[in-house]
Amino acid sequence: MKNILVVNAGSSSIKFQIIQMPQEKVLTNASIEKIGEIDSIFKMKTPELNIKNIFPVKSHEDALNYFLQQLIENKVLNDLSEINVCGHRIAHGGEYFRDSVIIDSDVSDKIEKLCQLAPLHNKVNLSCYQILNVLLKDIIHVAVFDTSFHQDISKEIYTYAIPYKYYEKYNIRKYGFHGTSHKYVSLITSEILGAKNSEKIIVCHLGNGASISAIKNGVCINTSMGLSPLGGIIMGTRSGNLDPSIIEFIMNNDDKSIEDVLSILNKESGLLGISSKSNDMRELLNSTDKQSVLAINMYCRKVSDYIGAYFMHLGGLDAIVFTAGVGENSAYIREKIISNIKEATNTIIDNDLNENGSKDRIISSKESNVKVLVISTNEEVMIAKDSYRLSLI
Ligand code: ADP
Repeated sequence: MKNILVVNAGSSSIKFQIIQMPQEKVLTNASIEKIGEIDSIFKMKTPELNIKNIFPVKSHEDALNYFLQQLIENKVLNDLSEINVCGHRIAHGGEYFRDSVIIDSDVSDKIEKLCQLAPLHNKVNLSCYQILNVLLKDIIHVAVFDTSFHQDISKEIYTYAIPYKYYEKYNIRKYGFHGTSHKYVSLITSEILGAKNSEKIIVCHLGNGASISAIKNGVCINTSMGLSPLGGIIMGTRSGNLDPSIIEFIMNNDDKSIEDVLSILNKESGLLGISSKSNDMRELLNSTDKQSVLAINMYCRKVSDYIGAYFMHLGGLDAIVFTAGVGENSAYIREKIISNIKEATNTIIDNDLNENGSKDRIISSKESNVKVLVISTNEEVMIAKDSYRLSLI
């Protein structure tokens, strides 16, 4: 048995879990949000405790120190030496990493080099590793990359139709993200349906960030995000794919810099941009104004367009799987997406199963040609599984 500390660091927040492996028992689930502000929020849950403290946390280093101290103070662990392995979610593994790896100086140099492709995220991921490598002595640290599950995608899919020198010089290509979630959800699908009935699946990870993957016999062959998480389908605040000439048009006509336009495409577009109301699907679903309806219709149409394209690429389809915030919680959105492809694919949702039932379940009817499932994603458990696997080698 090993205790795995799972660390998922973002630019202003860190999420933690301690998971006992191989039994996948979560000892605690904690987070620190709004790092760098005066009202940072620390939360920690255990089966016995539910803590929320608001106070200033200056830096990621302070956040990590505070979390480790709280682990002992709240008796989650008796001593930090009870942490056996630390698994880090790392945003970008570039072309270096096809799988999770134990971090050594070579791996850490490569993660640093990849800051060019994911400046904000890789930098903060790496610094959390460096700090914890000092605080937690003599343990293995494992890097689990958001990109590595997509590294089997073929050249004809990952190459952009721009001068090839940009790939050769700067590695500009499709990488894809949310790989840990796509991998986890595809593994659970295979457990539920059996390997023979889950050879060709499409996973729709529909959260605030959203992406779709085509998975054949457990291997990802296509995914919607690209060089960065800005590409692909419509998201909460991201535009997804669009005609690149729009960038120049907005710059010239609205007197914006390239940084302004990229910020608009990342933070003010998607559901928020179309509705002018919210990036939160719940708010749009509760609203009847025509821009909210348009945003929902465009969102569902884009997802079903990708399902259609990936159906062709897979050469058939055994299952469509919905996961993440919107995918797991909105029966309405699932039904609407499937209704767009119903005629072409004879995929039929069972309304009762769609609206009610346990967390992970089949929601298609018996007559449906394609199975439809809802599965709760769990990136932390996937990180713990990989960390545990590598710690045994
Ligand atoms: P991320 O990890 O990308 O930040 P999540 O997977 O947590 O996002 O998904 C968050 C989104 O899920 C919210 O913005 C909200 O739009 C959506 N969501 C959560 N619950 C529901 C619900 N009951 N119905 C519709 N959408 C929901």
